[in-house]
Amino acid sequence: MRRLAIFLGALMVLAGVVFAALERAPVESWLFRRIAFHAVSQPKPVLAEKNELAVLFCGTGSPLPDKSRGGPCTLIAAGDRLYLVDAGIDSARNLMLWRIPLEKIAGVFITHFHSDHIGELGEIRLQTWVAGRNKPLAVYGPPGIERVVGGFNEAYALDAGYRTAHHGAAMLPPDAVAMVPRPIDAGTVLELNGLKVTAIKVHHDPATPAYGYRFDYGGRSIVVSGDTAPDQNLTTAAHGADVLVHEGLSPEMVAIMRDALAASGHPRQAKIFHDIPPYHTSPVDAARIANQAQVRLLVFTHIIPMLPNSFAERLFLHGVSDVRPDGVEMAHDGLIVRLPANTTGIRESGVP
Ligand SMILES: [Zn+2]
Ligand SMILES: [Zn+2]
Repeated sequence: MRRLAIFLGALMVLAGVVFAALERAPVESWLFRRIAFHAVSQPKPVLAEKNELAVLFCGTGSPLPDKSRGGPCTLIAAGDRLYLVDAGIDSARNLMLWRIPLEKIAGVFITHFHSDHIGELGEIRLQTWVAGRNKPLAVYGPPGIERVVGGFNEAYALDAGYRTAHHGAAMLPPDAVAMVPRPIDAGTVLELNGLKVTAIKVHHDPATPAYGYRFDYGGRSIVVSGDTAPDQNLTTAAHGADVLVHEGLSPEMVAIMRDALAASGHPRQAKIFHDIPPYHTSPVDAARIANQAQVRLLVFTHIIPMLPNSFAERLFLHGVSDVRPDGVEMAHDGLIVRLPANTTGIRESGVP
């Protein structure tokens, strides 16, 4: 079988060489043409069918640099409408690499204004417009969202002007490019075409107010915690949800890193590692919250610290199975969790 595959491969390359010689084109050109036509003719991924709710993890990291995890980014699909929760560094890059139809992003929900959650808002603004978004993009968030959105609009204004001048207003209409800030209080913030979005006040002082979000659609539900210490509001609001997407910080691993930094003459970084645990949630506490809220599946994101291998991942989850033996998942960039309408099914896959 393997020999046959090698033979067929060699035959194809030989055919390419002959074809290229006849066409007087370099063989690289012939090969690139084949690859390019194949690549761009692939259908774009469908994240959710009609009435289906789904989540795509477009960034599962934190401010700590991690080659395998982008900054915080969670994409919710309610049928063919897409909503982004946070736009950390690499959000736009990951979504473009996976060929997600960015023009279908109908709104962005920001949990709070720590830089790891907003760093790529400017690129989301630009790339959704380039992909075909034809009206301004609503960006929901706590009071203060006006300053954040206004700043990104201003920072990207010259760029947008160049692009309209270059490609034409028919393709890149200047009245569609802007993001529009939508300051919100906790409670129901959007009800549209069967989708209900609820903002939940969580505890992440001094970044206040900070929100988590609950999405209900097609009889299914997903709750995204945002950054938070263990919080009763979140536990209450997540009651009975199908999926709880929760941040997780391992106090044990962060303490080890703090000690290593202090012992090796890095007092500034050691102080940061000393300061961060109180406004985040340990994996064991998140498991308790998931149990109290009676959610079907708990998925960890915003992973702190970075987990370079399965050994580190086991340490991160140490003690979780004692509290919650089943229904726990580690998110990774590209994980998709789909919830078909009016069922109890949960289907997991990766981006193609
Ligand atoms: Zn964060
Ligand atoms: Zn934060």
